[in-house]
Amino acid sequence: MAHDEAQNALLNDTVAVSVGGVTIGGGAPIVVQSMTNTDTADIAATARQIIELAEAGSELVRVTVNTHEAAAGVGDLVRRVRDEGCTAPIVGDFHYNGHVLLKGFPACAMALDKYRINPGNVGAGRTRDAHFSTICRIAADNGKPVRIGVNAGSLNPDLVDEAMRRISGTPNSIPSRKPRSADYSVELGEASPEFILNGCMIRSALDSTELALSSGLREDQIVISCKSSSPRHLIQLYRDLARATRQPLHLGLTEAGMDLKGLVWSAASMAVLLEEGIGDTIRVSLTPRPGGDRREEVHAACELLQALGLRTFAPTVTACPGCGRTAGVLYQRLAEQTEAYVRARLPEWRGTYPGVERMTIAVMGCIVNGPGESKAANVGISLPGNDEDPHCPVFVDGLRTVTLSGTPEEIEEAFRGIIDTYVETRYSQASNVKSHD
Ligand code: SF4
Repeated sequence: MAHDEAQNALLNDTVAVSVGGVTIGGGAPIVVQSMTNTDTADIAATARQIIELAEAGSELVRVTVNTHEAAAGVGDLVRRVRDEGCTAPIVGDFHYNGHVLLKGFPACAMALDKYRINPGNVGAGRTRDAHFSTICRIAADNGKPVRIGVNAGSLNPDLVDEAMRRISGTPNSIPSRKPRSADYSVELGEASPEFILNGCMIRSALDSTELALSSGLREDQIVISCKSSSPRHLIQLYRDLARATRQPLHLGLTEAGMDLKGLVWSAASMAVLLEEGIGDTIRVSLTPRPGGDRREEVHAACELLQALGLRTFAPTVTACPGCGRTAGVLYQRLAEQTEAYVRARLPEWRGTYPGVERMTIAVMGCIVNGPGESKAANVGISLPGNDEDPHCPVFVDGLRTVTLSGTPEEIEEAFRGIIDTYVETRYSQASNVKSHD
């Protein structure tokens, strides 16, 4: 085995944690997760968003549990989601008062599939450990796993103070309590602030893991994250973290940002780590536009894993970028509509047409690459560039079948029909059985 492969195999060797039937770590496929942004006390709105996120491909959905009202409604919320046929595990996100809410609302503790705890804000001084332990004991009593979610922005200040004191005194190391998963220590020396921050975050995660274990949780009930908003920081942080623990890792920037920036920064950081075998579940923490579609973070996470060849979630729509050879917007419109159409039909297709997520579709702008790319796809269309005949040859599994013409609306409708027919014939249960004979 090459050195890189051996290293990746080592980093991949995490404990498997089951969250409501979905496995994180232990070599299981990397899990996509997301978080609602509705008021959890608004049960109808939150249930609707959980279902939307799950249908979009989110395999776990996290909800904020921050008030008595939210905690009191979690039981009904989960029931309503299950009654709608949605089985995605639901995770409760707790800050500051998790120990109070989980103790005060046993139905909430029972209904959730996992609790997220931020060890930086469960209390101060000695109450921190006590509150953290309370949550872990409730999790253990209910047979629920937890995520220990350390954030750069809400790190336990005592750890940073201690590290700074050590630096200003004798150069030393951040001592570890020797977590079972690793003997972790950071040599401080002439350490940069970022290096110190990494050390403190990892130390917080590992010490908290020890505390969770001593509070009754098992190793196969603990997921860890150490999030930052800087891609370069995140990469180094998770490389160090992956060497220090066998607990499965939840990967993502704390706050990725909006639109293009959020997408690029998330992909830039997570792709590097995933390629190195680091990360067992991911979330793309995009800032939504006001009134925006929360499912974008799920689509982004799925696209990222699919781009890296780690998972297959949805048919791929390949479209050319366009250039001076095509002045019309038909190929752009058709590419956009095809992608939206496939996404809208996918939840239904998934159940009826197994394997449909591997389908490839091409929408191309002119004769230069149009026929070639279209032939390489399962279904492809080559639209006319400038000065070409206004005809659109369609290719199915490499063979030219029909040539479409007419108004943009007519071409769009006919192309959707061709896609539907392909899905129904190629991926129907009967044809799958036949193709395996
Ligand atoms: S397929 Fe044609 S229109 Fe599209 S980018 Fe290539 S040359 Fe330009």
